[in-house]
Amino acid sequence: MSKKNAGHSTDHQTTDNQTKVQVSDPVRRFVDISNARHDDQRDVMRRIIAAGHCPFCRQNLERYHTPPIIKEGKYWLITTNKWPYRHTRHHWLLIGLEHWESFAEAPAAAGAELFELVAWLERQHNLPGGGVAIRFGDTDYSAGTVKHLHAQVIIPDIEADDFQPTRFKIGKG
Ligand SMILES: [Zn+2]
Repeated sequence: MSKKNAGHSTDHQTTDNQTKVQVSDPVRRFVDISNARHDDQRDVMRRIIAAGHCPFCRQNLERYHTPPIIKEGKYWLITTNKWPYRHTRHHWLLIGLEHWESFAEAPAAAGAELFELVAWLERQHNLPGGGVAIRFGDTDYSAGTVKHLHAQVIIPDIEADDFQPTRFKIGKG
């Protein structure tokens, strides 16, 4: 890296075997407001960006996330999405209890507990079916709003008169 670029908030660093774009821009460190879906969600995200911390880390979560925490395991907690997708009967979030942004950062045991917790929801609510979606990493690729690893458990409301299938976006654009 040249001296000219040193200290810039977004650095393009070339490593031995790959070119890596490292986003250290403080505005996009923990969240990506351009992927938000609602005006009040954008308002909350502006507060998060101003605070400069991760909204899903346990010590910050309840400052921004008002729905109740339903269950807490060793690696994940279960809550509902504050901004559920339309045409869903349920839209839960399983939020990692540590700050992982990719699967590579999370322990394998977290994967086992994720299965257990989704199975618990299935049994608890007698779920007929649905989907589990997890974005990871760079929000340009994931289209995520919060980088902190979280799983979305989505049960569509197929019996609603105006039902439209849930489409889960991956990749900004
Ligand atoms: Zn976090």
